[in-house]
Amino acid sequence: MKTVNILGAPVASVTLDEAAQLVNWFVKEGRPRQVVTLNPEYLYRAQVERQLMDIVRQADLVTADGVGIVWAARKAGHTVPERVTGIDLLLRLAQEAGVNGWRVFLLGSAPGVAEAAGRELERRHPGLVLAGTHHGYFKSEEDEDVVAKIREARPDLLFIALGAPKQEIWGARYLGELDVPVVMGVGGSLDVLAGTVRRAPVWTQRLHIEWLARLVMDPKRWRRQLVLPKFALLVLLKGSNLKN
Ligand code: UDP
Repeated sequence: MKTVNILGAPVASVTLDEAAQLVNWFVKEGRPRQVVTLNPEYLYRAQVERQLMDIVRQADLVTADGVGIVWAARKAGHTVPERVTGIDLLLRLAQEAGVNGWRVFLLGSAPGVAEAAGRELERRHPGLVLAGTHHGYFKSEEDEDVVAKIREARPDLLFIALGAPKQEIWGARYLGELDVPVVMGVGGSLDVLAGTVRRAPVWTQRLHIEWLARLVMDPKRWRRQLVLPKFALLVLLKGSNLKN
């Protein structure tokens, strides 16, 4: 797998299909692995938060979640064929789960959301087995109980929807104990699947302005988007160091 160094993060130069193939192999192989779909906000924070960068460096597959990362790669003289977002990879893997009869565990989002998202996945992909669900509003004292619940459910795939970077931190922390082949953060994807939040229209995805549409649909996001110009500046300043 070819990786590209973007501000210190090894991002896989893969298409959505290739990412799914790799994950397919991870599941068959069975050893616990973490998949991170990396967005600019996370990567920006990782410049100063060592733990976040360590997680990305130790992850088994890091994909470019968003045009910001694809653009940063190009600025560094590399190519990443396309963005591979959390929700797109989740949907693609759910398809694979249907074909292969994989067990899926959904952790995160408000109470009831993971169940509804799980039912929707089962409806779309007969063959997919919903191994279990748990909401995302538990205290850290309850971590061990949640880990035990997941272990008992024996999933092939664990999707964590606690928001970035909490979901990546949680996944990395318990990866060894969970005994799940593939652990991956999916942000607000369960809300979209459950129908509690709408995904931005397809035309905005095609024009690569899904981020703008999300901002219009959910103005609270503006604070997060403020990091994008700072991220862009950093990429431009450090661009020459990135050519490796
Ligand atoms: N969430 C959660 N527990 C928390 C914080 C957030 O389960 O302590 C859920 C929240 O309900 C939502 C998701 O995590 O479903 C975060 O969605 P967001 O779109 O903010 O994540 P991003 O796509 O930015 O990673």
